[in-house]
Parts: sequence; C-alpha cells; structure tokens
Amino acid sequence: MKPVPFAYHRPISLDEALALMERYGADGRVLAGGQSLVPALNMRLATPVALIDINRLPGLDGISVEHEGLVIGALARHEAVEHSSLIARHAPLISQAMPHVGHRAIRTRGTVGGSVALADPAAELPACLVALDAVIRVAGRGTQRETPAVNFFRGIYTTDLAQGEIVTAVVVPPIRLGWRSSFHELARRHGDYALVGLAAHCRVEGGVIKEARLAFCGVGPTPLRALHAELALGGRRPTADVMAEVGHALDADLDPPGDVHGSPALRRHLARVLLARAVKQIVA
Ligand SMILES: Cc1cc2nc3c(=O)[nH]c(=O)nc-3n(C[C@H](O)[C@H](O)[C@H](O)COP(=O)(O)OP(=O)(O)OC[C@H]3O[C@@H](n4cnc5c(N)ncnc54)[C@H](O)[C@@H]3O)c2cc1C
Repeated sequence: MKPVPFAYHRPISLDEALALMERYGADGRVLAGGQSLVPALNMRLATPVALIDINRLPGLDGISVEHEGLVIGALARHEAVEHSSLIARHAPLISQAMPHVGHRAIRTRGTVGGSVALADPAAELPACLVALDAVIRVAGRGTQRETPAVNFFRGIYTTDLAQGEIVTAVVVPPIRLGWRSSFHELARRHGDYALVGLAAHCRVEGGVIKEARLAFCGVGPTPLRALHAELALGGRRPTADVMAEVGHALDADLDPPGDVHGSPALRRHLARVLLARAVKQIVA
C-alpha cells in the first residue's frame, strides 16, 4: 500500500516547526527517523494531512553533559547514542540497552525523541529513562516544560505530550556514587521488540544492594517500576534465598499481557530470569 497523500514541510527552526504544528493541529504529525511512522503511513494506520519533518532543526541532535545531567537531544540517532562515550560514562544503562533496539539499519535513523514520543510499551529506552529517573523536555508554542519520565508514559502509545508539542531532549540526572546499571532483555529474535526487558539501576555497597530501581518493559502498557521487588531487594545481599523472596515480590508487581509471542506465565518467568541476571551482574 501507499500512504494517503500528505503535505510535507521541512522547517529549519523549532519556532517554525511549532507554528506548523499549531497550524495543522491534530492533522499534523512530526516526522523524525520515520522508522515507526513511515510503516504506519504505508499501512494507512496513520493518515495525517501534513508531515512536519524535524530532521533539519538545528541543535536537537546533541549529546552533552550539563549541570543538570546528561542531555540527549531528541534527534540523536539510536546509533549515536549506542556509541557515545559520554553516554557510556554517564548513563551506561542506556549504552547497554541500545544494541537491543531493532536492527542496525533502524538504529541509524531512529531517534531518541521518536522512541520517547511513540511510547511503545516494549521499547527499551523508555524503561531506561524511568529507571534512571530522567526527565523529558518538551517545547510548545511559547512554552518549555520538563516531565519526569515516570509521569510521561501514560499508556500504550500514549504520552503526556499535548497537541502541538515536540520532545526536544531527555535529561538523565548525574549518577551518584555506588550506583550500577544492568540492562537485559529476551526477544524471540535479535532486533525484535522485547518479550520482557529489564532496566536495573542499583546502589551497591560491599555486595549489598542498598537501593534498587527496576523498570521492566514488555510487561504492561507503560514501563513498569517493580516496587515490591525493589523493596524486597533493598538493603540485602542477594543470596539465593533472598532472590527467591524477591521473585515472589516481583509476582505482586507484574500483571503481564498474553499475546501470540508469549503467555502471561512465560513473561512472569522471564522477568524473574532477567532480574536474577541483572542482580548478578550488578553485584559482580
Ligand atoms: C523492524 C523494526 C524493529 C524495531 N524494533 C525496535 C525495538 O526493538 N525497540 C525499540 O524501542 N524500537 C524499535 N523500533 C522502532 C524504532 O526504534 C523507532 O526508531 C522509534 O520507535 C521511533 O523513532 P523515529 O525517530 O523513527 O520516529 P518516527 O517514526 O519518525 O515517529 C514516531 C512517532 O513519534 C512522533 N515523534 C517523533 N519524534 C518526535 C518528537 N521529537 N516530538 C514529538 N513527537 C515525535 C511521530 O510523530 C510519530 O508519531 C523498531 C522499528 C522497526 C521498523
């Protein structure tokens, strides 16, 4: 199939892009890497009147360390994020997650802003941003705001973005001393969306997990913090007995969906497997 005809705009400033968003309202759609939007257009799942291609907007593809933390521009490509030495140093969780995002061809075009705005519940980056307590920067006509990632993802393909707004960056707060990260996922084939993924970020001292932040993807409508498991793990040395307890606590956190790729029981089991792997890596 081919897309329904649409107008195409390629603004060269954020102001111009936001003005176009205002002009078209619900009929306008931002085009970033196109890796999710273009297939949706071709299948006529999306039928916007106008595409607003933001690829030429200056200054949105940067990766930098600022006083508020690591700032990753919305137009930073997945591949640039994957290979960034700044990200490896200041947000190693994201570096570990990136190779799991689609295939290389997709990562060369797909963007951070696109991934965040799409809010696929199985996507890796949103789970990392929740685990890292990151914020999403958003611009509207004459407005700038920041929303914690945990409040940004509202449901399946649903975010806190209002009509006419554009994601401009994500900001990861500076990593504090003693915090370590581990990302794991299981997918049917490499490059597929995760059946279950886990972004784990923990404070470790002498082999004891002092605090844990565990964000799963693929087990619910949004990235999901496993608060019971975090509590069960916090302040403890992760022995086999403790991990069995944590596994039970995790059951209280998860109510995963079943689909053609896996049953709820399979996803629960995989979540436990990933948690054990991540904790082992974090305390190693
Ligand atoms: C075969 C295949 C496998 C994939 N596997 C994975 C995977 O395993 N994990 C994963 O996370 N992703 C996966 N993806 C998706 C890929 O990561 C996309 O790149 C990403 O989800 C969307 O980014 P994009 O830049 O391509 O956005 P686009 O496709 O251009 O846009 C996606 C949506 O976000 C909106 N949007 C884009 N940028 C902004 C912005 N800055 N502000 C506001 N709205 C915006 C668009 O209007 C559109 O609604 C896969 C894609 C394919 C085709």
